Order: sequence, then C-alpha cells, then structure tokens
Amino acid sequence: ASMDSVKVAVRVRPFNQQEKNSGSRCVISMQSGTTTAIQDPKNPEHIKMFTFDLAYWSHSGFQRDNDGVLISTGSNSKFAGQKDVFRGLGQGVLDSAWQGYNATLLAYGQTGSGKSYSMIGYRADKGIIPNVCEELFKAIENKEKNQQYQVTFSMLEIYNEQVRDLLSKTKKPGGLKVREDQHQGFYVDDLTSVPCDSYAQIERLMEQGIKARTTAATSMNATSSRSHMVITIQFKQVFLDGDLTKQSIINLVDLAGSERQKSSASEGDRLREGSRVNLSLTTLGNVISALADVTMGKRVLHIPYRDSVLTRLLQSALGGNSKTIMIATISPADICYEETLSTLRYAERAKKIKNKAVINTSPTE
Ligand code: ADP
Ligand code: MG
Repeated sequence: ASMDSVKVAVRVRPFNQQEKNSGSRCVISMQSGTTTAIQDPKNPEHIKMFTFDLAYWSHSGFQRDNDGVLISTGSNSKFAGQKDVFRGLGQGVLDSAWQGYNATLLAYGQTGSGKSYSMIGYRADKGIIPNVCEELFKAIENKEKNQQYQVTFSMLEIYNEQVRDLLSKTKKPGGLKVREDQHQGFYVDDLTSVPCDSYAQIERLMEQGIKARTTAATSMNATSSRSHMVITIQFKQVFLDGDLTKQSIINLVDLAGSERQKSSASEGDRLREGSRVNLSLTTLGNVISALADVTMGKRVLHIPYRDSVLTRLLQSALGGNSKTIMIATISPADICYEETLSTLRYAERAKKIKNKAVINTSPTE
C-alpha cells in the first residue's frame, strides 16, 4: 500500500461585483506557489502564514482570450487559470486512476468562494471535472487495443441528509438508501450508473445533473447551494492478454458552503436544511480532526464516519483506500476574513490525514 498525506491546494478568486462595489481590500497574498498569507483587517501587522502543496493565485493578472477563457496576462503574472488547476490537481487524479488507485477530489470553502467554478466551471472556463473526463477519453482513444475500458458515471446530491440521484427523473421519497457491504464499504443503493463511451456523453449527463441539483438562496449569494454533490466515475481496465482487471473509483465532490448558518437567514424549512447540512459538514470536520489527531500520535478511540451520510460515502477517501486531494477555495476580501481563516485552518487539518491506497486488481471475470 502507498501511504501518503491528503494533498491540499488553496485557490483565491477575483473580487466579485459586490466586493468591488463595497471597496473591499485584498487580505490574501501568495508566494512561491505554496505559501498563503492572510492579513487581519482589524490588525494589519497580524499576518498568518499557511503552507500547502499548492497555492493558486486566481485573483488578478488575467484577461479573456478569444474563446472567452480566463488566462494569464503574461509571463510576469502568477495568475492560475482552470488549465493550471487541472494540471496541478486533475492530472494527478487521472494518473492515480490509470494506476488502479481510487482517487477523491474534494472542494471545500464558503459559499461564493469558487468551489463549483473550480470543480465544474462556468461556460468556456471548464473546471477540473470536465477536463478530467475529456482527458480520460482522449487517453483511452490513444491506447493500444489489447485492453478494454469501461467507464461509468453517476451523480448524486446529499441534501437534508438524504441522497438524491441527479440522473434519475423519478424522485424517491426519503431519498436513496446508503448500504454497507463487507467488500465495497458504503454505497448508494439503486443509484443510476451510466456506462459511457465518449466525453460528449458525460458532458450531457453532467448538464442534466447540474440542472437537477437543489439550490436554495442564502444571504450570501442567491444561487448558493446547501447540498453536497458527488460525481463518481468507475474506471475499469481489462487487460486481455493477462486476464487481469484494474479498477479505480474516482469521487469528485463539490461540498456545500462551509459558512456557519446565520439564524437570521434561515427560517422554517431553511433552518432545517441548514442544520441538517451542517450535520454532514460538521461530521466531516470531526472525522478530519480525529484523523489529524491519529497522525499526530494522539490516542483516538473512534472516528465518527457513521454519523453522517457524507462521511459514510467518503469513508475510504478519508484515511482509507484512496489518493485524496482537497481544494480549499477562498475569497480575497477583508469582509470574508473570519470565514477564510476558518477555511485555511480546516485545510491545515486535512493535510495531516494519511491514506493507504492500494492498486485495485482482480482476475478478469
Ligand atoms: P461556490 O460554488 O463556492 O459557491 P462559485 O464557484 O459558484 O462559488 O463562484 C462564485 C462566483 O465567483 C461565480 O460567479 C464564479 O464564476 C466566480 N469565480 C469563482 N472562482 C473564480 C475564479 N477562480 N476565477 C474567476 N471567477 C471565479
Ligand atoms: Mg457552488
């Protein structure tokens, strides 16, 4: 087994219109591609430094090219665009999958910080997931033909601690059941899993799934999401000469906004949503903290995987059989200082998690 830490990246986005209008100051700076510094707006000498595997500066130094894609203004700009983030994080997911390792990529951060932009993207600025899928099929097409490949695609959301199939028209009241299997661990019963043989097909499925994703307005951003989205790609390589199959499960997760729910913004149903989403996110935080403690040699009696739907589904990604990457997305603005600091601290704990990934091979059936 290969023992390695969760790889952590942080990415800071441009100011949004609201931040520009209110004359926000940027409290984030980044150095040498790994260090992030955050300045306390109330106490400007007070600067905290964080070091992660990667620090992506997407705040300034960009322009749009003829296709409408955000790119760097030139060689003296440290701007990181979608392709840079794909090369730094998505390519690693693909490499792991080809080797037969399970891979997980999680986006964590406050609502409006750039999770969906980084994972899925908007318009011409395609995110990590479409790039991973496109490159996967490109590579398959270029391979020699003594191998067969199977790709299946599924897409779900966790909302109110219920699992909803984003690729199914029929709604199951109460959501889909999460079951446990001795060999495969936790899985979602009855989830649609579509065999795919082209990127175009995945593109259509993703579009369908994104439309179906539940969104509710919050005080931060009218289209923000309180749901967690999980895309799962199963990738099987059948080696025809060696009677061997290699299999990888790729989980790509766009988490709900990490901000604490403000009671004024949540009433009735919304309050219930807020508190329930918090259960999955809070439990994720507890699992990450417990695993970080394990790494630091503390005695930990129990890792609370079973306490939420999200952590059950991500059990193998967190301290188990998976190569795992987290992208923590942050706002550059002074007004988001507290939330950004909390995101950076969260990411720092995640970095301590050690996984034990194994190559999944079996004799061909
Ligand atoms: P989240 O999913 O975390 O709630 P989004 O990804 O939807 O946030 O981002 C909020 C807004 O900010 C979107 O309009 C998005 O286009 C923009 N945005 C986020 N990150 C970037 C980035 N790195 N570069 C350019 N625009 C970004
Ligand atoms: Mg989003």
